[in-house]
Amino acid sequence: MPIQSGRPSRGEIEPTRRRLLAALPALSVLIAGSAGAQGIAWPGGARGAVSLTYDDALNSQLDNAVPQLAARGLRGTFFLTEENIGDRLADWQAVARAGHEIADHTVHHPCDLRGYSPARFERLELAPMERFLDQNFGASRLRTFAYPCGYIGMGSGAPADRHARYIRTLSPTISAARTTAGPPNDPARVLAEPLRLQAFEPTEERTDPLLAFRYVREAARRGHWAILVFHEVLPQRVGEGDTSIALHGEILDWIGRQPVWCAPMGAVLGHIRQDA
Ligand SMILES: [Zn+2]
Repeated sequence: MPIQSGRPSRGEIEPTRRRLLAALPALSVLIAGSAGAQGIAWPGGARGAVSLTYDDALNSQLDNAVPQLAARGLRGTFFLTEENIGDRLADWQAVARAGHEIADHTVHHPCDLRGYSPARFERLELAPMERFLDQNFGASRLRTFAYPCGYIGMGSGAPADRHARYIRTLSPTISAARTTAGPPNDPARVLAEPLRLQAFEPTEERTDPLLAFRYVREAARRGHWAILVFHEVLPQRVGEGDTSIALHGEILDWIGRQPVWCAPMGAVLGHIRQDA
Protein backbone atom coordinates (compact mmCIF):
# COMPACT_ATOMS: atom_id res chain seq x y z
CA MET A 1 0.00 0.00 0.00
CA PRO A 2 1.42 3.41 -0.91
CA ILE A 3 2.27 5.75 1.89
CA GLN A 4 0.51 9.07 1.68
CA SER A 5 1.57 11.90 3.82
CA GLY A 6 -1.63 13.68 2.85
CA ARG A 7 -0.07 17.05 3.28
CA PRO A 8 -1.48 19.83 1.15
CA SER A 9 0.47 22.23 -0.94
CA ARG A 10 1.32 25.54 0.69
CA GLY A 11 -1.31 27.29 -1.39
CA GLU A 12 -4.06 25.08 -0.03
CA ILE A 13 -3.33 25.45 3.64
CA GLU A 14 -2.32 29.08 4.02
CA PRO A 15 -5.80 30.67 3.89
CA THR A 16 -7.01 28.37 6.68
CA ARG A 17 -4.00 29.20 8.79
CA ARG A 18 -4.37 32.89 8.29
CA ARG A 19 -8.00 32.75 9.39
CA LEU A 20 -7.16 30.66 12.42
CA LEU A 21 -4.29 32.89 13.48
CA ALA A 22 -6.40 35.98 13.02
CA ALA A 23 -9.25 34.58 15.11
CA LEU A 24 -7.36 33.03 17.99
CA PRO A 25 -5.71 35.87 19.94
CA ALA A 26 -8.96 37.72 20.62
CA LEU A 27 -10.69 34.49 21.62
CA SER A 28 -7.84 33.48 23.92
CA VAL A 29 -7.95 36.79 25.75
CA LEU A 30 -11.70 36.53 26.24
CA ILE A 31 -11.62 33.01 27.58
CA ALA A 32 -8.57 33.47 29.76
CA GLY A 33 -10.16 36.59 31.18
CA SER A 34 -13.43 34.90 32.04
CA ALA A 35 -11.99 31.66 33.38
CA GLY A 36 -9.25 33.44 35.30
CA ALA A 37 -7.23 30.25 35.68
CA GLN A 38 -3.61 31.28 36.11
CA GLY A 39 -0.65 29.15 37.00
CA ILE A 40 -1.54 25.50 36.68
CA ALA A 41 0.81 23.28 38.72
CA TRP A 42 2.66 21.13 36.21
CA PRO A 43 4.15 17.81 37.43
CA GLY A 44 7.59 17.90 39.01
CA GLY A 45 7.59 21.68 39.28
CA ALA A 46 7.83 22.04 35.49
CA ARG A 47 7.14 25.52 34.15
CA GLY A 48 5.20 24.36 31.11
CA ALA A 49 4.25 21.26 29.15
CA VAL A 50 5.19 19.96 25.72
CA SER A 51 3.64 17.19 23.63
CA LEU A 52 5.43 15.64 20.67
CA THR A 53 2.91 14.60 18.01
CA TYR A 54 3.42 12.65 14.79
CA ASP A 55 0.82 12.57 12.01
CA ASP A 56 -0.24 10.17 9.25
CA ALA A 57 1.11 6.75 10.45
CA LEU A 58 4.32 7.04 8.44
CA ASN A 59 6.87 4.23 8.35
CA SER A 60 9.70 6.71 9.01
CA GLN A 61 8.12 7.43 12.38
CA LEU A 62 8.22 3.74 13.32
CA ASP A 63 11.73 3.27 11.99
CA ASN A 64 13.36 6.54 13.08
CA ALA A 65 11.28 8.66 15.47
CA VAL A 66 10.15 5.90 17.86
CA PRO A 67 13.69 4.61 18.54
CA GLN A 68 14.88 8.19 19.14
CA LEU A 69 12.07 8.76 21.65
CA ALA A 70 12.79 5.42 23.34
CA ALA A 71 16.50 6.24 23.69
CA ARG A 72 15.57 9.37 25.65
CA GLY A 73 12.69 7.94 27.67
CA LEU A 74 10.18 10.25 25.97
CA ARG A 75 6.64 9.37 24.88
CA GLY A 76 4.75 10.90 21.99
CA THR A 77 1.29 10.99 20.44
CA PHE A 78 0.87 9.24 17.08
CA PHE A 79 -2.13 10.32 15.01
CA LEU A 80 -2.78 7.34 12.76
CA THR A 81 -4.46 7.40 9.36
CA GLU A 82 -5.70 3.86 8.75
CA GLU A 83 -5.03 3.72 5.03
CA ASN A 84 -1.34 4.52 5.62
CA ILE A 85 -0.74 1.71 8.11
CA GLY A 86 -0.30 -0.99 5.49
CA ASP A 87 1.29 -4.12 6.95
CA ARG A 88 2.70 -2.39 10.02
CA LEU A 89 -0.23 -2.69 12.43
CA ALA A 90 1.76 -4.96 14.76
CA ASP A 91 4.54 -2.36 14.89
CA TRP A 92 2.05 0.35 15.85
CA GLN A 93 0.62 -1.92 18.54
CA ALA A 94 4.14 -2.31 19.93
CA VAL A 95 4.42 1.51 19.98
CA ALA A 96 1.23 1.65 22.05
CA ARG A 97 2.54 -1.01 24.45
CA ALA A 98 5.67 1.09 24.95
CA GLY A 99 3.50 3.85 26.43
CA HIS A 100 2.97 6.15 23.47
CA GLU A 101 -0.48 7.51 22.74
CA ILE A 102 -2.27 6.27 19.63
CA ALA A 103 -4.94 8.60 18.27
CA ASP A 104 -7.31 9.38 15.40
CA HIS A 105 -6.28 11.07 12.13
CA THR A 106 -9.20 9.57 10.10
CA VAL A 107 -9.38 6.58 7.75
CA HIS A 108 -8.55 8.37 4.47
CA HIS A 109 -7.11 11.75 5.52
CA PRO A 110 -9.55 14.06 3.71
CA CYS A 111 -8.32 17.66 3.89
CA ASP A 112 -10.99 19.62 2.06
CA LEU A 113 -14.34 18.78 3.70
CA ARG A 114 -16.52 21.14 1.67
CA GLY A 115 -18.25 18.11 0.15
CA TYR A 116 -18.91 16.50 3.53
CA SER A 117 -21.99 16.59 5.73
CA PRO A 118 -21.55 15.69 9.42
CA ALA A 119 -23.27 12.35 8.74
CA ARG A 120 -20.96 11.53 5.84
CA PHE A 121 -17.82 12.40 7.80
CA GLU A 122 -19.06 10.35 10.77
CA ARG A 123 -19.86 7.36 8.53
CA LEU A 124 -16.71 7.35 6.37
CA GLU A 125 -13.99 8.76 8.62
CA LEU A 126 -14.77 9.17 12.30
CA ALA A 127 -16.81 6.12 13.34
CA PRO A 128 -14.76 3.54 11.38
CA MET A 129 -11.45 5.00 12.60
CA GLU A 130 -12.56 5.01 16.23
CA ARG A 131 -13.76 1.42 15.80
CA PHE A 132 -10.44 0.44 14.24
CA LEU A 133 -8.53 2.03 17.12
CA ASP A 134 -10.82 0.40 19.71
CA GLN A 135 -10.31 -3.02 18.18
CA ASN A 136 -6.55 -2.76 17.83
CA PHE A 137 -5.50 -0.47 20.67
CA GLY A 138 -8.27 -0.78 23.28
CA ALA A 139 -11.37 1.27 23.95
CA SER A 140 -10.30 2.88 27.22
CA ARG A 141 -8.03 5.51 25.65
CA LEU A 142 -8.79 9.20 25.82
CA ARG A 143 -10.13 10.03 22.35
CA THR A 144 -7.87 12.63 20.75
CA PHE A 145 -7.98 13.75 17.11
CA ALA A 146 -5.82 15.76 14.71
CA TYR A 147 -7.49 17.72 11.89
CA PRO A 148 -6.15 16.42 8.54
CA CYS A 149 -4.02 19.17 6.95
CA GLY A 150 -5.00 21.46 9.80
CA TYR A 151 -8.26 22.26 7.97
CA ILE A 152 -10.92 23.18 10.49
CA GLY A 153 -14.03 23.63 8.31
CA MET A 154 -16.72 21.24 7.10
CA GLY A 155 -19.44 21.68 4.47
CA SER A 156 -20.36 25.07 3.03
CA GLY A 157 -20.96 28.54 4.38
CA ALA A 158 -18.92 31.12 6.27
CA PRO A 159 -15.67 29.94 7.91
CA ALA A 160 -17.11 30.26 11.43
CA ASP A 161 -20.17 28.18 10.47
CA ARG A 162 -18.01 25.55 8.78
CA HIS A 163 -15.79 25.32 11.85
CA ALA A 164 -18.75 25.09 14.22
CA ARG A 165 -20.15 22.26 12.09
CA TYR A 166 -16.86 20.32 12.33
CA ILE A 167 -16.75 20.82 16.11
CA ARG A 168 -20.35 19.61 16.48
CA THR A 169 -19.48 16.52 14.44
CA LEU A 170 -16.47 15.66 16.58
CA SER A 171 -17.78 16.58 20.01
CA PRO A 172 -19.95 13.51 20.80
CA THR A 173 -16.92 11.25 20.25
CA ILE A 174 -13.69 13.21 20.60
CA SER A 175 -12.30 14.66 23.86
CA ALA A 176 -9.60 16.86 22.36
CA ALA A 177 -8.56 17.87 18.85
CA ARG A 178 -5.38 19.47 17.55
CA THR A 179 -4.96 21.95 14.71
CA THR A 180 -1.56 22.84 13.21
CA ALA A 181 -1.29 26.55 14.04
CA GLY A 182 -1.45 29.07 16.85
CA PRO A 183 0.58 29.84 19.99
CA PRO A 184 1.06 27.38 22.89
CA ASN A 185 -2.15 26.52 24.74
CA ASP A 186 -3.32 28.32 27.86
CA PRO A 187 -4.69 25.60 30.20
CA ALA A 188 -7.79 27.71 30.91
CA ARG A 189 -8.56 27.85 27.22
CA VAL A 190 -7.91 24.11 26.83
CA LEU A 191 -10.74 23.38 29.25
CA ALA A 192 -13.07 25.81 27.49
CA GLU A 193 -12.26 24.66 23.96
CA PRO A 194 -10.58 21.24 23.93
CA LEU A 195 -11.40 20.74 20.25
CA ARG A 196 -9.32 23.77 19.24
CA LEU A 197 -5.89 22.88 20.58
CA GLN A 198 -3.19 24.91 18.87
CA ALA A 199 0.12 23.51 17.69
CA PHE A 200 3.25 24.30 15.71
CA GLU A 201 5.11 22.46 12.94
CA PRO A 202 8.72 23.41 13.73
CA THR A 203 10.21 21.91 10.57
CA GLU A 204 7.49 22.94 8.11
CA GLU A 205 9.43 25.87 6.69
CA ARG A 206 13.06 24.99 7.18
CA THR A 207 15.64 23.02 9.13
CA ASP A 208 16.31 25.20 12.15
CA PRO A 209 16.04 23.90 15.72
CA LEU A 210 15.58 27.46 17.01
CA LEU A 211 11.99 27.48 15.76
CA ALA A 212 11.08 24.62 18.10
CA PHE A 213 13.17 26.04 20.93
CA ARG A 214 11.48 29.43 20.69
CA TYR A 215 7.99 27.90 20.75
CA VAL A 216 8.67 25.66 23.75
CA ARG A 217 10.40 28.52 25.61
CA GLU A 218 7.31 30.64 25.09
CA ALA A 219 5.17 27.89 26.66
CA ALA A 220 7.53 27.65 29.66
CA ARG A 221 7.54 31.42 30.11
CA ARG A 222 3.74 31.57 30.32
CA GLY A 223 3.03 28.23 32.03
CA HIS A 224 1.35 27.02 28.85
CA TRP A 225 1.30 23.80 26.80
CA ALA A 226 3.29 23.52 23.56
CA ILE A 227 2.26 20.88 21.04
CA LEU A 228 4.79 20.15 18.28
CA VAL A 229 3.77 18.44 15.02
CA PHE A 230 6.06 16.22 12.96
CA HIS A 231 5.54 14.21 9.77
CA GLU A 232 8.36 12.29 8.06
CA VAL A 233 11.52 11.77 10.14
CA LEU A 234 14.13 10.89 7.52
CA PRO A 235 17.91 10.63 7.15
CA GLN A 236 17.76 13.87 5.12
CA ARG A 237 15.05 16.48 4.66
CA VAL A 238 13.52 15.84 1.22
CA GLY A 239 10.54 18.17 1.17
CA GLU A 240 8.41 20.60 3.12
CA GLY A 241 7.64 19.38 6.62
CA ASP A 242 10.25 16.62 6.67
CA THR A 243 12.46 16.45 9.74
CA SER A 244 15.96 15.05 9.51
CA ILE A 245 16.85 12.40 12.08
CA ALA A 246 19.64 14.68 13.32
CA LEU A 247 17.33 17.66 13.82
CA HIS A 248 14.67 15.49 15.50
CA GLY A 249 17.30 14.19 17.91
CA GLU A 250 18.58 17.69 18.59
CA ILE A 251 15.08 18.92 19.43
CA LEU A 252 14.42 15.94 21.74
CA ASP A 253 17.76 16.39 23.52
CA TRP A 254 17.09 20.08 24.04
CA ILE A 255 13.58 19.43 25.40
CA GLY A 256 15.07 16.95 27.85
CA ARG A 257 17.15 19.75 29.34
CA GLN A 258 14.29 22.26 29.70
CA PRO A 259 12.07 22.83 32.75
CA VAL A 260 9.05 21.45 30.90
CA TRP A 261 6.93 18.33 31.32
CA CYS A 262 7.02 16.25 28.12
CA ALA A 263 4.02 13.91 27.85
CA PRO A 264 1.47 12.66 25.30
CA MET A 265 -1.52 14.91 24.62
CA GLY A 266 -3.97 12.71 26.49
CA ALA A 267 -1.78 12.74 29.61
CA VAL A 268 -1.44 16.53 29.58
CA LEU A 269 -5.15 16.97 29.03
CA GLY A 270 -5.89 14.60 31.93
CA HIS A 271 -3.57 16.60 34.17
CA ILE A 272 -5.16 19.93 33.23
CA ARG A 273 -8.63 18.53 33.99
CA GLN A 274 -7.47 17.14 37.33
CA ASP A 275 -5.76 20.37 38.33
CA ALA A 276 -8.76 22.54 37.41
ZN1 LIG B 1 -2.05 14.48 8.33
